[in-house]
Amino acid sequence: MELWYTEQHTDNVRFSIKVDKPLYTGQSEFQRIDVFNSKEFGNFFTLDGLMMVTQKDEFIYHDMIVHVPMATNPKIKNVLVIGAGDGGTVRELTRYATIEHIDMVEIDKMVVDVCREYLPQTACKLDDPRVHLYFEDGLKFVRTKENTYDLIIVDSTDPFGPGEGLFTKEFYGNCYKALKEDGILVNQHESPYYDEYAKSMQRAHKRIKEFFPICRVYQAHIPTYPSGHWLFGFASKKYDPLTDIDEKAWNSLGLKTKYYNTDIHKGSFALPNYVKELLAEAGE
Ligand code: SAM
Repeated sequence: MELWYTEQHTDNVRFSIKVDKPLYTGQSEFQRIDVFNSKEFGNFFTLDGLMMVTQKDEFIYHDMIVHVPMATNPKIKNVLVIGAGDGGTVRELTRYATIEHIDMVEIDKMVVDVCREYLPQTACKLDDPRVHLYFEDGLKFVRTKENTYDLIIVDSTDPFGPGEGLFTKEFYGNCYKALKEDGILVNQHESPYYDEYAKSMQRAHKRIKEFFPICRVYQAHIPTYPSGHWLFGFASKKYDPLTDIDEKAWNSLGLKTKYYNTDIHKGSFALPNYVKELLAEAGE
């Protein structure tokens, strides 16, 4: 008998991975959590039937969500991470000795517990002494913060269920307020390819643009996400990731990365015409 994990990417498109062994199934207060083992992608975990992280391609997402802002402003010391329960974003951040403090706000403790057990590859740095874990809603957490962080990373689920609030105007406005005067906001920005995802990414772009003077979008190829073409948002009060990137400083750190390099950094902001058009439409 063959066992396959199948995810519905649109009404007419499905994506499947052959499963060697189901490892865990649980229902938290917020969502259903599943972990599987597969030959092609190693262990992978899903929330409400949507792919979150696989051992094989997580490096692409985590490199791009962390190293792009860190190479733009090497002086970042105080970071807020929202979502990110698998720990991959925190793992990459803790590689910078210059970072002094990381608050990570994940709504669902069960995600962290499950990832500690089945995805130690990403969860391995959650006990770093600079990391402070809060199990609460990121939307509520930022409401009370002002002029506090150099960088906010929103590593959320899609804009429905518990993640919905992390794509609202209220949330982006509060992130603006929670950032210092040279602060940067990076978020997972959905995909431009299939219509439903493209609508979400346009909405997010439009809302972020209402608050931040610098507002760019960059891309990466993530094989297990819908269409494989994924976007990240870079919003900032001061720094432009293309003109302020400090290549020399970042390269002198000697960090070994499997995806990110300073050429990819610059190239990732070069967008296909159809994506530029979607963003222009959203910005009007
Ligand atoms: N890399 C993944 C992706 O884009 O598919 C996202 C990974 S991470 C596991 C997303 C996390 O965001 C989940 O663990 C989820 O519980 C958390 N999350 C969703 N809504 C949240 C909220 N309002 N506040 C804090 N965390 C939230």
